[in-house]
Amino acid sequence: MSAQVITQKSRGFICVNAHPEGCARNVENQIAQVERKIDPTVRSFQNVLVIGSSTGYGLSSRITAAWGMGASTLGVFLEKPPAGRRTATAGYYNSVALHRAAQRDGLWAKSLNGDAFSDEIREAASRIIQDSMGRIDLVVYSLASPKRTNPRTGRIFASSLKSIGKPFTGKTIDLSSNAVTQARIEAANEDEIENTIEVMGGEDWRWWIESLLDDNLLAEGARTLAYTYYGPSLTWPIYRDGTIGAAKQHLKETAGMLDEMLQSKLSGSAWLSVNKAVVTQASSAIPVVPLYISLLFKVMKERGIHEGCIEQMHRLFRNHLAAPDGPVTDQDHLIRLDDLEMREDVQQAVEELWPQVTTESLSELSDYEGFQKDFNQLFGFNVEGTDYNHEVETGVFLDS
Ligand code: NAD
Repeated sequence: MSAQVITQKSRGFICVNAHPEGCARNVENQIAQVERKIDPTVRSFQNVLVIGSSTGYGLSSRITAAWGMGASTLGVFLEKPPAGRRTATAGYYNSVALHRAAQRDGLWAKSLNGDAFSDEIREAASRIIQDSMGRIDLVVYSLASPKRTNPRTGRIFASSLKSIGKPFTGKTIDLSSNAVTQARIEAANEDEIENTIEVMGGEDWRWWIESLLDDNLLAEGARTLAYTYYGPSLTWPIYRDGTIGAAKQHLKETAGMLDEMLQSKLSGSAWLSVNKAVVTQASSAIPVVPLYISLLFKVMKERGIHEGCIEQMHRLFRNHLAAPDGPVTDQDHLIRLDDLEMREDVQQAVEELWPQVTTESLSELSDYEGFQKDFNQLFGFNVEGTDYNHEVETGVFLDS
């Protein structure tokens, strides 16, 4: 047992500890937002596999599938358990809380904490599905990782957040000093582009689907989806036109390939959903994005159209995946959950604020306070109703 008072310890865009009670409250708050909110008479999912299920969009996808639709869920993630006086990572505590809530609410849930890129974890997932679930009708692929070991070659790849073609200089927030500064990002070389595609492209998603198909573990009509981001031209040099954008292009091509494969074998489908910019561990690490998100949140909150991960995933499941006529897609076969973010009036307002914002005017012109609150909450801090002066038990573990 290791009860202790936990004070947040952050370094830039990383927080090195997490609060188990705050994380549990976040999970409960998300559950409350979707519980029984999807019409059970429309198409629903029975068995859902979420790869990258412990934080961000993957966690909200899992919660929506389970509590919104009553699905049994298998979650895969890579998180650190607590050790001695060191807290677990937030995603670990989120998953402990999710399991407890599932047990309380009579929902079947199991998790695998390990490297989703490895064949070993894929095989372990197959065994659980075979032994306890039956066939999977939805696979959500929501990994965001800085590196990948290719299990078939043993090669290790690291992703880069760089521009392509020429270096990029643009406004950003230095999360350590809260100052608006200029970020200079070097152009990537060919290796860095290729490595980022290896990590964040679609190969691993395809291998998951192929392995489930080979083991006959996908149900007739099975669906799969992965997530991407487009955003406005302000962010394109570092996102859409950068190394990460090249990987997302590969993910998009993979979606097309998987769609054909699933259609021909099981009358199933694959999609890429273009989601809104939200504060997650992955997005906080991308230069320019925290400033853009702070301005975007201000504009969207003023218009009453702000959404976080759980609101986005609720909309994805309710309006698209559970819709009797299937998801509404654009001409590129993409589900556009970023429709509100990309609305002309929203983007115009952000564009007007962008050149004006300085360190001094940051809190007035943007919702940096909202960004910081969301960031702290990712790790279980700053969560309403949590007493941070009390000792909490940090040594809580997932059932094996
Ligand atoms: P996140 O950092 O919150 O979650 C990443 C998940 O991946 C976690 O569950 C983590 O444990 C898991 N993971 C990482 N490496 C792993 C490994 N080797 N093995 C097993 N699990 C591993 O990220 P997020 O922001 O929710 O991103 C998820 C997806 O959504 C990404 O494809 C991202 O590009 C996309 N997306 C994000 C945003 C945004 O603003 N955050 C917007 C649109 C799309």
